[in-house]
Amino acid sequence: MRHVAIIGSGPAGYYTAEAAQKQWGDDVRVDIFDMLPVPYGLIRTGVAPDHQSIKGVSRRYETTAQLDNVRFVGNVMIGEDVTVAELQGLYDAVVLATGAPNDRPAGIPGEGLGNVFGSAAFVGWYNGHPQFAKLNPDLSGKHAVVIGNGNVALDVARILTKTAGEFTGSDIVGHALHALAKSHVEQVTILGRRGPHQIAMTPKELGELGHLERACPRVDPADLPEEGEDLFLEPGQRKSVTHLRSFAAIPEAFRADKPVEIAFDFFASPKAILGEGQVSGVEVERTALDSNGRASGTGETYVVPASLVITCIGYKSSPIPGVPFEESAGRFANAEGRILPGLYCVGWARRGPSGTIGTNRPDGFSVVERIAEDIGAGTGKHGRAGFDKLAEERKLDVVTFRDWKKIEEAEAARARDGAPREKFVDVAEMIRARGE
Ligand code: NAP
Repeated sequence: MRHVAIIGSGPAGYYTAEAAQKQWGDDVRVDIFDMLPVPYGLIRTGVAPDHQSIKGVSRRYETTAQLDNVRFVGNVMIGEDVTVAELQGLYDAVVLATGAPNDRPAGIPGEGLGNVFGSAAFVGWYNGHPQFAKLNPDLSGKHAVVIGNGNVALDVARILTKTAGEFTGSDIVGHALHALAKSHVEQVTILGRRGPHQIAMTPKELGELGHLERACPRVDPADLPEEGEDLFLEPGQRKSVTHLRSFAAIPEAFRADKPVEIAFDFFASPKAILGEGQVSGVEVERTALDSNGRASGTGETYVVPASLVITCIGYKSSPIPGVPFEESAGRFANAEGRILPGLYCVGWARRGPSGTIGTNRPDGFSVVERIAEDIGAGTGKHGRAGFDKLAEERKLDVVTFRDWKKIEEAEAARARDGAPREKFVDVAEMIRARGE
């Protein structure tokens, strides 16, 4: 028998469990730990609430979760309730599927000012992550600045500008829906330190900005390279740039009906966040691309007004004492997912915050191959029986998958009209919803 502990119940965790099941069938026991009483990680608290079709992938994880030899072990904080070293003593393989939950700092003055948030915090707020549910961003000002040219920047800009009606069918949490409905934001500036050809935004997500009820995107035609140069782009990127070209061509008459603007400011590198106590603006330096395609400052600076700033410039994993970590890349030091025999990492904890949800599937299968090489038929450890004993000794209040299904039911029962659920945003509330 092989005993595998997976830490983190997001996509990387569940794909690894699926791969372990495919590899060993009945000859493996998999325990999937999560610090929250609810599963699915980024699917629940990262994917935008108005992207329900993407969230639907959790149904696939549910199939894995309900296998007899796969267990969800929720409400257990690894590092506090039980250490990684203890799990290594109990399981043949411990897999870190902990994602990259921390904002990468921009490293510029003023990041600590009021109403400046990283995307992990801001996205966590509108998605009801218990850690960020009380963020309470101040939306009473007119100008929001979103830093970064990736899909998270698009999510944030879109969520900031949608009307309450446009959230119908989404699972945006009530506190965010109410705050956004009262928002005064009428200008969102998306700062990109490089140009239109260097964006990390995918076509579908970019195209959505062209169909918003009260907001309209703006691109300065002067920022766009010669159209012929698009031919050298990879097809997906070409499609994205075509969206930018169509935004640049939107007639002023069309904008008259759109009180909110989402302006792309390219070749604009943030140098400092300005303000006293609260943010009032972002100092930006105009850039040009150097011969390696990197942003190089031109010395020309200007200030973009800002009452709210959200940095969407990537994430990093949380280091674990004693586990080798690559600080610059923000992920665990590993070779093809192996940190050392018996200890592995997958998903963003392995490669850093890149790729789509589906990218984690091959990652999960590949790490199971490494595990198979290392543990053979198992190393005689106690596995879940050993953990259960420890949990009892420490009086841990473990939340099972069956408990989660009750929480899920309660969330569905209290959903507003048309919404799939109203999430609990507080751990104690989640635990109460599980009932006796
Ligand atoms: P990302 O795709 O890596 O984009 C980060 C952006 O931040 C880049 O434009 C980068 O510019 C910029 N940046 C980094 N450091 C900066 C700095 N110091 N100053 C200014 N700009 C800076 O990261 P992400 O948007 O957080 O997304 C993470 C992953 O999740 C991506 O793979 C993304 O596609 C995925 N995701 C997908 C969806 C979806 O499919 N719907 C939604 C959300 C997220 P440079 O290029 O110049 O470095």
